[in-house]
Amino acid sequence: MKATFPYMGNIYIPLSTLLKNLDIEPVIPPPPDKETLSLGTKYSPELMCIPFKLTLGNLIKALEMGADTIIHCSGFWSCRYGYYPYLHHQILKERGYKFEYIILKKEEWQNIYFILKKIYKKDYKVINKFIKAIIKTYYKSKIMEELERKAMEIRPKEKKKGITTKVLNKYLKKLYEEDNIFKMEKIKKRGIEELANLTDKKKENSFIPKIKIVGEAFCVVEPYVNFRIIEKLGELGFHADPFLTAHSWLGFHSIRLGNNIYKKVRELAKEYWQYNVGGEDTNTIGHSLLAIKEGYMGIIHLHPFGCMPQTMASGILEKISKEYNIPILDISLDEHTAENLIDTRLSAFCEIIKKRIE
Ligand code: SF4
Repeated sequence: MKATFPYMGNIYIPLSTLLKNLDIEPVIPPPPDKETLSLGTKYSPELMCIPFKLTLGNLIKALEMGADTIIHCSGFWSCRYGYYPYLHHQILKERGYKFEYIILKKEEWQNIYFILKKIYKKDYKVINKFIKAIIKTYYKSKIMEELERKAMEIRPKEKKKGITTKVLNKYLKKLYEEDNIFKMEKIKKRGIEELANLTDKKKENSFIPKIKIVGEAFCVVEPYVNFRIIEKLGELGFHADPFLTAHSWLGFHSIRLGNNIYKKVRELAKEYWQYNVGGEDTNTIGHSLLAIKEGYMGIIHLHPFGCMPQTMASGILEKISKEYNIPILDISLDEHTAENLIDTRLSAFCEIIKKRIE
């Protein structure tokens, strides 16, 4: 079986380990670019959100690279994410692609067992393989998170612009290629040390303002869609802290990793938001309030144009911004968004925060 899945940020690093350890060959399309987006946009209904369009483009590329199976998550989502796999499936079939489709519904995780049983035939083999694959995947994902988080901390203090991202990518590549847990640990140790050494001694003790990034999951996690906003903020001298990363998305939506923080955030959001309408709406509001409590200097709200849950959250964030006197930058993203426009708004936003600190 040669399987692919919707691409989102660095999620492919742990997921390819999961598949390989289940004896499934992963097919990873190249990182998204203009061509991928045009491809997805061309075959998507016009008003679909940008995550749908970009993931469709990625799936087309993966099928052209030889993938024969698509693995997709779905379930009773409150927003249109629940329809993604069915619509992707229909569009791709109509375009003449031949493939198997595995839809993992969050309400029916036991189906994974039956899928694996078809591959290994014997119960004990299914359990053994699955446990080992999950452990390795978890380790890899956690190490990826630690490296990415370290880079976010170091970037605003780096001695040479762009060096942190370069070093981070070098270690992420090593991590992607490694399958042994002990060697993964060594990569982490060396990576963290090398990243720590990139600090400019003159900036070591200076105050670094923190900016929280909230919004729709795909827009927060996928750097192609958000124009590498985390890197850019870091290079402008800010510690960018996304409420969600590839690791936390995988952990939360699989084994409810981080459920405690979710409960805390939901409690905080209650004053403004009582119903979950999907698309990280409660998280967006709750994490913004938590960030204010924790002394963050600004909040950036990223969301796809036409995303119903996040469009509603925008109105609440406007209110929160006024009530707590905190700058919030609202960025709506689609296939027509121009990078230079985002850069200009980002610099202006950072200037506002700098003026407040002076
Ligand atoms: S959260 Fe918004 S962008 Fe994401 S699938 Fe739902 S409607 Fe689309």
